[in-house]
Amino acid sequence: MEDKSPSGDTIIFLGTAGARFTVLNQFLASGGIWLNLSGTEILLDPGPGCIVQSTKRKLRGQNLSAIILSHRHLDHSGDVNIMTEAMTQGGFKKRGRLFAPADALGTEPVIFSYLRNSLESIEILEAGKSYSIGDVSFTTPIRHIHPVETYGMLFRTGGYTFSYIADSLYFDGLCQSYGGELLIMNVVFLEPGRPVDHLTVPDARHIIAELKPKVAILTHFGTTMWKAKPWEIAEKLSQETGIKVIAARDGMKFELSQLDNA
Ligand SMILES: [Zn+2]
Repeated sequence: MEDKSPSGDTIIFLGTAGARFTVLNQFLASGGIWLNLSGTEILLDPGPGCIVQSTKRKLRGQNLSAIILSHRHLDHSGDVNIMTEAMTQGGFKKRGRLFAPADALGTEPVIFSYLRNSLESIEILEAGKSYSIGDVSFTTPIRHIHPVETYGMLFRTGGYTFSYIADSLYFDGLCQSYGGELLIMNVVFLEPGRPVDHLTVPDARHIIAELKPKVAILTHFGTTMWKAKPWEIAEKLSQETGIKVIAARDGMKFELSQLDNA
């Protein structure tokens, strides 16, 4: 039986695939990140397979308080409808909140209209705004550089502060906007020079060195990262920056209490 103690703060990586090819080939699983912060369960970026990856780990959609989408791309939102059904117990119970940028809800919404009424609320993410879910608060400090409207999040729980830097091309504002003891970062590319707006390993090295978290976790790997063995890249980044860098694995569970001895 898995430990489901409500007092712990845990982050579960349902999948570590990022961008098109690792996701559509499922070289790595996709499905987002499941947060349990002192019993408040929040789902981040439910990409394709989230329902499979979560149920097989005995994580129950009906326990979620909220689903947050950093942006509308399919690898971040593919399972938002089924996870909304799960959160609202098949649509029969009005509960749970959905947070997403305006363009994920506008002319071509990622959420089906028949599900909207089952949600307690739908809230629009905007740059510089703060939101709260139970005892957890988060801000979306800055709009990222990405083909669609995209935000990362800076979370605050009773005991910890951590950042999730979602998809973006690198720009100086990223470093100025995030912080905390833990940094989770979507690092899609090994090297610069790709046509899509994503972070690369040199960007990750720079951000880690600037922000100096206690621990940095890399995830959302594209094919070049996957082929280069993310755990070896993480080890090299640890040596270069002097900061503990971990490459997320599919299903990896990180306890925020691990930060206390980091
Ligand atoms: Zn994207």
